[in-house]
Amino acid sequence: MLELQGLRKQFGETAAVAGVSLRIDRGEVVGIIGRSGAGKSTLLRLINRLTDPTEGSVKWDGQDVTRFKGRELRRWRRRCAMIFQQFNLCPRLDVITNVLVGVVAERPLGPSLLKMFPAADRARAILELDALDMAPAALQRASTLSGGQQQRVAIARAMMQEPDMLLADEPVASLDPVNAEVVMEALQRAAQERGIPVIVNLHSLDIARRYCTRVVAMAKGQVVFDGAPDQLTAEV
Ligand code: ADP
Ligand code: ADP
Repeated sequence: MLELQGLRKQFGETAAVAGVSLRIDRGEVVGIIGRSGAGKSTLLRLINRLTDPTEGSVKWDGQDVTRFKGRELRRWRRRCAMIFQQFNLCPRLDVITNVLVGVVAERPLGPSLLKMFPAADRARAILELDALDMAPAALQRASTLSGGQQQRVAIARAMMQEPDMLLADEPVASLDPVNAEVVMEALQRAAQERGIPVIVNLHSLDIARRYCTRVVAMAKGQVVFDGAPDQLTAEV
């Protein structure tokens, strides 16, 4: 279980996150909604420790993540797989190599990288791609894919990390509705089949309602709603 306690992140005068406490269980798909500037991205970065809180703590199964340093901290960042709005693939590398990056994110990348991966890793990368109907594109350059296809590859890469949780920052904001659906279904499956929490920043209330088990609305760094999607009223 992920437990945020009194989390606060101050940037000068601005409290980007202003006292957030949440408990999130394995298998939940939590949609974080709120206007631009509400603190959604900062919240994700506090969870994976890309940024340090001004106050408060992040705990995973009772362990205080905010105290992690050095190797333990690098390991934690890899246990929190991230999905981004702009996919963040290496455009010149082929699809399977992009997925394999999930197992060795800290090694330097080069065009001959694929040869360095054990057959077992390559087989697993193909399975992860196949689960997202992307195996046929394994040898294509990432730059030749559509946005929806690139996001599916990014999900396969995230799954390659065997993460403890999946954090997605506006993963469907630049996709058309059909691809958005495919990507949101893939995130749901990750939560259900792997039993990990999925936390996804969204600007579409409709998508949050359809795909999330729980919706958290933020305004000015605070949680202003936390509950089932069907309890969400128009005013939040
Ligand atoms: P959201 O993801 O909901 O759009 P953010 O977490 O990106 O919100 O930002 C929350 C607030 O914190 C905004 O006012 C933003 O300008 C501010 N902020 C975010 N990151 C920084 C930073 N690195 N330095 C200064 N202010 C920041
Ligand atoms: P989003 O709205 O998608 O959350 P932003 O445009 O708010 O993204 O932020 C993009 C990057 O700029 C982030 O790394 C964030 O930390 C940083 N940032 C945001 N607001 C500020 C700010 N006022 N001063 C400095 N950096 C900021």
